Amino acid sequence: MYIREQLEEIRASIAQAEQRAGRPIGSVKLLAVSKTFPVDDIMQAYAAGQRLFGENRLQEAMEKMPQMPTDCEWHLIGPLQRNKVRKALEQGFGLIQAVDSMKLAATISRIAGELGMCASILLEVNVDGEDSKHGFTVAEVEELWEELVALPHLEIRGLMCIPAPVENPQDARPAFACLRRLAERLRARGPLSLPELSMGMSHDFAVAVEEGATIVRVGSAIFGKRTYL
Ligand SMILES: *Cc1c(COP(=O)(O)O)cnc(C)c1O
Repeated sequence: MYIREQLEEIRASIAQAEQRAGRPIGSVKLLAVSKTFPVDDIMQAYAAGQRLFGENRLQEAMEKMPQMPTDCEWHLIGPLQRNKVRKALEQGFGLIQAVDSMKLAATISRIAGELGMCASILLEVNVDGEDSKHGFTVAEVEELWEELVALPHLEIRGLMCIPAPVENPQDARPAFACLRRLAERLRARGPLSLPELSMGMSHDFAVAVEEGATIVRVGSAIFGKRTYL
């Protein structure tokens, strides 16, 4: 029951944020981040109408995905090692969200080609510019853009970011706006329409929606507090 109620509350908050931003109701997809939570919990979300789920570890996703109804869509939102790309592509994610380097993008394209497919991905952008973080810097994406769009077996659907945690959700706004503006500049260069902006988590998804998110990744606000082993 608890999970259903949380989901309903979040859907309502998303709709309110869409309205505040003058965006069409339903323009934002809610990705339920189910990492660390058991299939029983994910089934509760499913029973409440949720179909889009995100996992951050490939191994964990591979265990859970076959246990869930086949009309679910799964996104891989965590870092992907290059030696696991083939496994990840064979697993059938709707979107690989955290492609954080040119090397990884090139590997995904090459292996997708070998598998006779085209891989849908997002580029992870380090909007804070901290060295310690994953992702392309804004400058790198702009420098490498021609090279990235030339990769033949990749469909770059958009950008994602995981900004440094902030206490006040409003303080995440500049990072979200930075990702949106980068997407606008890249769209202007062509040839991709980059429909997706994946940004915002439990704490700050409403602000992300106001700044143009099309996918919000919400875990603990749906499933409860995570206990890491
Ligand atoms: C865990 C995780 C989330 C969800 O975080 P919550 O704060 O629990 O909503 C979103 N995005 C990524 C990449 C994550 O790893």
